[in-house]
Amino acid sequence: MIFRTTPARRPALRRVRTTPAPRPLRHRLDPARVEEIPLRAPDGVRLGLTRIHTGDTGRPAVLLLHGHTASADMFLLPETRNLVDSLLDDGYEPWLLDWRGSCRLPYNETGQRYTYDDVALYDVPAAVSHIRAATEDRPLFVVAHCIGSLALSLSMTAGLVPGLAGVVSQGVFLTPKLAGRTSLRMSVAGELLKTRIDHIPVDFRKVGLWSRYTPLFALASRGATCPDPTCQILHNSAWGTGASLFVHENLSAATHDRLAELLGPAPLWILPHLRRIELARSVVRWHETDRRYAALPPNALDAAGRVDAPVLLLSGSENGLWLDSQRLCHDVLAHRQPHLDVRYTEIPGYGHLDTFLGRGAALDVFGHILEFLGERR
Ligand SMILES: [Zn+2]
Repeated sequence: MIFRTTPARRPALRRVRTTPAPRPLRHRLDPARVEEIPLRAPDGVRLGLTRIHTGDTGRPAVLLLHGHTASADMFLLPETRNLVDSLLDDGYEPWLLDWRGSCRLPYNETGQRYTYDDVALYDVPAAVSHIRAATEDRPLFVVAHCIGSLALSLSMTAGLVPGLAGVVSQGVFLTPKLAGRTSLRMSVAGELLKTRIDHIPVDFRKVGLWSRYTPLFALASRGATCPDPTCQILHNSAWGTGASLFVHENLSAATHDRLAELLGPAPLWILPHLRRIELARSVVRWHETDRRYAALPPNALDAAGRVDAPVLLLSGSENGLWLDSQRLCHDVLAHRQPHLDVRYTEIPGYGHLDTFLGRGAALDVFGHILEFLGERR
């Protein structure tokens, strides 16, 4: 054969970047010690689980649960002494879950909708099972913030995560209570905006000066003392609800400048579930008839007798979002379930997020957590 024909080469397919992995964590740990585990929830949703290795297989494990729109990054702030630092120095092995409401997950703004039922039924139990398999009979504690803690309360009262050595809940647990104006704005905003947008953004640089979000930022800037629009929508308005997420002076300048990275856009489609929870003053299941969710109690507070772990309820005295929900939870449980081991500690001068993000949190807050864990390890 004189002429060899070579098949025409097809043009190479353009690589489409789908970023299936979560956004990289920001930390100052030795990267060799940080293992990122591609955990999948039983309903197929990709989650993030991070294990901090210590080389010591005898340490009790501590699972950290972030709040909605935050991420595992909230426990790893490189700019300050963070909770992971404190846990490592005190002899624990930290595990961090990015549950499906994490802003590190690539589908955060575009993925499937969900309710907190899914977090309680799938995400939290999946993480606990994975950690238990890896750490065998070592004690497992959970430290949970905000919605992470609210979802945990639903998992616990469903009996899906039995036998925890202890639970630290920050901000809200079984009795969510919002200020009247926050609750009202949540309903009004949900109704007015649901046909126009599905997320409340926090990063003004991505949104631009003139957009459909401009009125939200303008509203948040009213009476604000800080000129930063991202700070205004979080500190002054909590995604437009009128609540406040932190005491401003408790954040370092570096953390303040990272707020748009630490907290992502808030989805509006979650508001009906949150609204129902808030009206009930209890963590209630969203799915009433769907049999897939039958394992969850219709009302977690009514099922509080199933809580089988000691609980430390933490709250800043200035919590501008959940107010005195934790004190209320303590009083209600002391009355209704006197056999439970539940204590309440209030952190003077702290709001909500600053109990973990605050520059002085290691001194003012983490000591309470370590003392509680230390008594039960
Ligand atoms: Zn500010």
